[in-house]
Amino acid sequence: MRTLIISDIHANITALEAVLKDAEPFEQVWCLGDVVGYGPDPNACIERVMSLPGIKCVKGNHDAAITGVIGLEAFNYEARASLEWLESRLTPENKRWLSGLDEKLEVDGITLVHGSPRKPIWEYMMDLVTARQNMREFDTLFCLVGHTHIPSVFRMEGEGPKSTRLYFMQTGKLFELEDKCILNPGSVGQPRDHNPKASYLTYDDMEQFWMYNRVEYDIQAVQQRIRAAGLPDRHAARLEDGW
Ligand code: ZN
Repeated sequence: MRTLIISDIHANITALEAVLKDAEPFEQVWCLGDVVGYGPDPNACIERVMSLPGIKCVKGNHDAAITGVIGLEAFNYEARASLEWLESRLTPENKRWLSGLDEKLEVDGITLVHGSPRKPIWEYMMDLVTARQNMREFDTLFCLVGHTHIPSVFRMEGEGPKSTRLYFMQTGKLFELEDKCILNPGSVGQPRDHNPKASYLTYDDMEQFWMYNRVEYDIQAVQQRIRAAGLPDRHAARLEDGW
């Protein structure tokens, strides 16, 4: 079974469609949250995600904010402005779908969360200390996270005193992982690693191969929709350089 792993779509349907096309063929999809927020296409993204084969999706901080789990004051000014915009546009069905998302799932022996296994909605898996602490917080071999928008792998080394290491991966190459790992596929709709291409992972559970990929999409079209919607200009500007 080949699984497509995506995260942080952030209401960018153009990036999502580019990833879906580029990643084919896949039999199921795991989504690590933040389907909405920042971007201009929240309803289209939710409906597309809902329609994907074998979809399993966890709740991100933006998804939680819009469904009232966390207050808008927890967000910075621009994130808040886009959340208020979003509030006025989401259909009731799509809002209900977001509210119904779990914070943590275990699928085919793999843990899925948005932030970290310890704090699924909010914690950023950015550094080795955080990764080390979180390695104890899940029982599966692999844990998939999103939230930082930076594709990465934190890996336990050997049997002895546990240490972790962050790897930035090469695109389009199959790789195997035998140690306990926390993997982040990067962001579909708003990459922040200074590479503007949409980011994703695939996993083949028969061969146990992972693959990391990036794909171009029509950034200008999305920027135009962001500006036409009256969303903060920074959301449009940052897509160009991936920050
Ligand atoms: Zn996000």
